[in-house]
Amino acid sequence: MAEQCIFCDVSAGKLDSQLLYQDEEVVAFPDIRPIAPTHVLVVPKRHYATLADAAAAGDDRLLGRLLSVAATLAHQKLGEDAGFRVVINNGAAAGQTVHHLHIHLLSGRHFAWPPG
Ligand code: 5GP
Ligand code: ZN
Repeated sequence: MAEQCIFCDVSAGKLDSQLLYQDEEVVAFPDIRPIAPTHVLVVPKRHYATLADAAAAGDDRLLGRLLSVAATLAHQKLGEDAGFRVVINNGAAAGQTVHHLHIHLLSGRHFAWPPG
């Protein structure tokens, strides 16, 4: 666990976040500043600062698991036919502000392409 990491604290149950999903490796909870009607963060309990760090560590199984949890949550929460988008910001230049790997699961409005 990294020191002073907000998502380590949430995934360890130290903060009063409403968990939408939890297993041995992954938690999911609503984003505190949602940018869409559905905005859920899917987060590994293990601390990797970035997607690139998890890939460099060879943790392919966990990366696959995160995507699988995101899709399953979307299905359960929104229904089979709903459109949704998953986003990972890797590094500050890409907009990453919390340096613990997370997937944004977004739905409920139109999303422009290409993204801004
Ligand atoms: P990033 O910009 O790193 O891709 O995304 C970080 C996200 O975490 C942002 O959308 C931000 O609103 C969210 N966030 C930051 N602090 C907290 C928090 O304490 N609780 C929750 N639920 N979300 C947070
Ligand atoms: Zn962390």
